[in-house]
Amino acid sequence: MFKRRLFKLEHEQFRDVVRAFIDREIRPYHHQWEKDQIVPRDLWLKAGEAGMLCCTIPEEYGGLGLDYLFDVVVFEEMARSGFTGPGFMIHCDLVATYVNSFGSEAQRRHWLPKMVKGEAIGSLGMTEPHAGSDLRNIRTRAVLDGDHYVIDGQKVFISNGQSCDLMVLATRTSASDLQKGITLFLVDTSLPGFTRGRNLEKLGLKAQDTSELFFENLRVPASAMLGGEGQGFHLMMQKLAQERLAQAIRSAMVAETVIEWTVDYVAQRKAFGKTIADFQNTRFKLAELKTEATIGRVFTDECIERFMAGELNEVDAAMAKMWLSNLHCRVVDECLQLFGGWGYMWEYPIARAYADARIVKIAGGSIEIMKHIIGRSLFSGLRTRAS
Ligand SMILES: Cc1cc2nc3c(=O)[nH]c(=O)nc-3n(C[C@H](O)[C@H](O)[C@H](O)COP(=O)(O)OP(=O)(O)OC[C@H]3O[C@@H](n4cnc5c(N)ncnc54)[C@H](O)[C@@H]3O)c2cc1C
Repeated sequence: MFKRRLFKLEHEQFRDVVRAFIDREIRPYHHQWEKDQIVPRDLWLKAGEAGMLCCTIPEEYGGLGLDYLFDVVVFEEMARSGFTGPGFMIHCDLVATYVNSFGSEAQRRHWLPKMVKGEAIGSLGMTEPHAGSDLRNIRTRAVLDGDHYVIDGQKVFISNGQSCDLMVLATRTSASDLQKGITLFLVDTSLPGFTRGRNLEKLGLKAQDTSELFFENLRVPASAMLGGEGQGFHLMMQKLAQERLAQAIRSAMVAETVIEWTVDYVAQRKAFGKTIADFQNTRFKLAELKTEATIGRVFTDECIERFMAGELNEVDAAMAKMWLSNLHCRVVDECLQLFGGWGYMWEYPIARAYADARIVKIAGGSIEIMKHIIGRSLFSGLRTRAS
């Protein structure tokens, strides 16, 4: 295994803290949370207390002002554990960074300290029943009325939807231009007119709440707008590379971890008087997967470095997300095969990893949308070169 060069001693010490937190506060309860389809609020407060939420938020807004690698450590250790209930990644990597990057001083001071402590849980409301990949077609309307906007519409598939106190909400403020008619708001979910619908039953991510949400005559002050009117699409595009990188980080870690679980299992399990590891098929299969996971690791770490240097563009992020998502699903599938029937049993973590894997090819930009972005980039300079 390549020695990773990204992390310093302080990151590794923090990794130990995060692992201990997961063993103490998540591992014993996750099975029950899968039945509840949600994690308790108390967990968020404990994670905040342990310094695991929104590590990069500056000290003046209640954070620790640490570098991005501290967030990476949290995402990686959650991925390594196989416990997908806590929606920390969306809260930290997306919602808090939207507020920090695009929010006014008053918005930052109001929301960020609570998000760091786990007192306010964040969600991101983009997808609607008829518009997911094609975000330009969202219909949830925000209409100016005096010094307020009145919001009507609905969202679906929203992670942390049942538990969120704050939502970064994408709305339509103008019908004339699909792209420039989109505006973001920071919605306080305690306001009248905000209603939570069903906590949707899913194939995987069983302990994570994922909801439909409704907005009816919801009045938000104009000061709740995030960025300027009509800038929503532009702001969302700016953050998508970061979201896609986070998903690649998660997939790279899941792939490595599942291979480790499988090596341990096949070394013990016997058939036909040998261990499963003694079959050449097993060794060849694991050799291929390990090689690909290592390639994925090197690429992911390179993207992390580029991101921290402000150099990760949307094409790099799309390639990372696409390649690592495909690898993630394939590794989990092929490794489960080596577990035989036990791999299909929920008591084995590989079964949960299999159910949880499928989403990575869909959410945060599907594989096809990633190909679209990468493909477009190949031809964008062609006309200029030809002329
Ligand atoms: C568990 C889960 C959690 C989620 N969390 C959130 C969240 O917190 N916030 C949020 O806003 N959304 C969330 N989503 C929504 C997610 O981002 C969307 O499901 C995703 O963007 C795809 O949109 P869609 O489901 O409408 O599929 P569609 O856009 O209808 O796509 C259907 C199929 O068509 C393909 N397709 C679409 N356009 C093209 C094209 N141009 N070329 C080729 N193929 C194309 C897609 O790749 C896909 O295979 C979540 C979804 C799930 C399942």
